[in-house]
Amino acid sequence: MGNHHRSFELTKKQNQLRESFKQLIAGPCSAETREQVLATAKEVSEIDELTYFRAGIWKPRTAPGSFEGIGAEGLDWLKEAKHEYGVKSITEVATPEHVEACLKAGLDALWIGARTTVNPFYIQQIADSLKGVDIPVFIKNPISPDVGLWMGAIERFKLAGISDVSVIHRGFFSYSKGVFRNPPMWEIPIKVKTEFPDLQIICDPSHITGDSKLIEEVSKFAMQLGMDGLMIETHPSPPKAWSDAKQQVTPIHLKEIVNAILLNKSDSDISHSEIERMRKDVDGIDTQTLQEIAKRMLMVKEIAKFKKENSATVFQHERWKHVLEESKKKAKELGLNEEFVEDLMNLIHKESLNIHHTIYNS
Ligand code: PEP
Ligand code: MN
Repeated sequence: MGNHHRSFELTKKQNQLRESFKQLIAGPCSAETREQVLATAKEVSEIDELTYFRAGIWKPRTAPGSFEGIGAEGLDWLKEAKHEYGVKSITEVATPEHVEACLKAGLDALWIGARTTVNPFYIQQIADSLKGVDIPVFIKNPISPDVGLWMGAIERFKLAGISDVSVIHRGFFSYSKGVFRNPPMWEIPIKVKTEFPDLQIICDPSHITGDSKLIEEVSKFAMQLGMDGLMIETHPSPPKAWSDAKQQVTPIHLKEIVNAILLNKSDSDISHSEIERMRKDVDGIDTQTLQEIAKRMLMVKEIAKFKKENSATVFQHERWKHVLEESKKKAKELGLNEEFVEDLMNLIHKESLNIHHTIYNS
């Protein structure tokens, strides 16, 4: 896209690597005015990597009274943007009526929002309304970290005859407030990628971070984890945005982010053999760690047998408290994250209790 206005030249090497940037979806959180839509489309169309121009037409807002989207009128602006700047458009649909309006307006792709993926009834209705039409569908993860629900939604669209289904990782709701608006819980998209290697996963750093200053680092990280692309909310004047003002980037900022990722990729290619060597070292340490854990579990078996023979209690609260506290102290000395060490110890303890259980019942 935007072949006639290249904003930067790519080296041959970067060109080869571009294959791994399969999707770049950019555009405002919400379509606000015709001018805002066209101005954003013009700028993002200059990025070669752009695959879709996004703009929310119907907005799922947490509380009533905030801007709930411009409605069907905005679809005409997307049509105009495509006509003027050649950008394919995508928007969020949450009802069969939304689907009908989008198909009528000739949109190129649809996405399902996080608040819709949670409900199989909604998903089924939307999938049914697409029967007989084959349009690319991008499914955001449900608000809750429920992989089954996410994969179930994919299946419903596939069964309805949609051949091009991709997913968007936008982070998960968390009750505790941290740096991220929706913590990424990277282990979840990684699990999905491992289980479904052919499924395209696009990362949405905008809704993960909720903060335009963090978009670049999260985008880079997502690409390093092997994600297939990014969806980044882009607005000509983010502070004035009618929704998600804090997390939108300017088109110039977006170009910088895309450039940084392309450069990053060529760097990592150069140091490939170095990484392979370090990975081998890490694999060796993993093996040693498992061998040590196996030794520990053997000891636990011995202790459990001894306790059983001497009718001692399995669990001594004070002792466990002491072990945990000591581990946390050691974590500090070793420069390890205390919370991580506590989780690890709890996991080891769980297995020790299982061993006790087996031995006491044998
Ligand atoms: C959005 O993309 O603007 C949006 C509402 O996203 P999500 O469904 O991830 O909250
Ligand atoms: Mn948004």
